[in-house]
Amino acid sequence: MLDADFFRRWMTATAALVDREADRLTALDSPIGDADHGSNLQRGFTAVTATLEKEAPDTPGSVLTLAGRQLISTVGGASGPLYGTLLRRTGKALGDATEVSPEQLAEALRTGVDAVRTLGGAQPGDKTMIDTLVPAVDALGDSFAAARAAAKEGAEATTPMQARKGRASYLGERSIGHQDPGATSAALLVAALEEAAGE
Ligand code: ADP
Ligand code: MG
Repeated sequence: MLDADFFRRWMTATAALVDREADRLTALDSPIGDADHGSNLQRGFTAVTATLEKEAPDTPGSVLTLAGRQLISTVGGASGPLYGTLLRRTGKALGDATEVSPEQLAEALRTGVDAVRTLGGAQPGDKTMIDTLVPAVDALGDSFAAARAAAKEGAEATTPMQARKGRASYLGERSIGHQDPGATSAALLVAALEEAAGE
């Protein structure tokens, strides 16, 4: 079972991976965006870990809703409201249980990903974080390791795609040949699950 500590570790591990990869995320956002994705998420997840420490939410659902709210209020770019919605809606779906099973997490995350799809209007194949999150959630039923591998593959599969959503879509065909920054950061969020589980 996964308790509030697991979810705190998930957010802390995500913040650490985002810190480590911030320059790469910004570099990916340079040819097909405005070169701020790494700094956007770094600011967001730094604020998330600080607020989790300060407010010490004690259920899985409240950890994620608080984290999501913090991302929405600190990240200016498109990714803030999208990641914020993902975490907030996933947290809401977990309710006020003190522990949840990996299956319940997978189901709640699916609700969160659906909310991101509704908010941003992106479908699989549009070269966004959705291309990472959908296969990752599908694989989460197997294991965190399977989800991590599916997420990495999903992110890499965005390279030959033409962007149809977000800033990169303004480039039309010139968006082809670059890995999507949001799909890449989404793979970090999924990888952090495995780290939180200590696997
Ligand atoms: P901005 O584009 O405002 O500078 P960021 O650089 O932080 O914001 O984030 C860009 C990422 O957000 C993209 O790489 C993409 O994965 C994701 N994104 C943008 N628009 C959408 C959307 N409508 N649906 C899903 N993801 C999106
Ligand atoms: Mg950007």
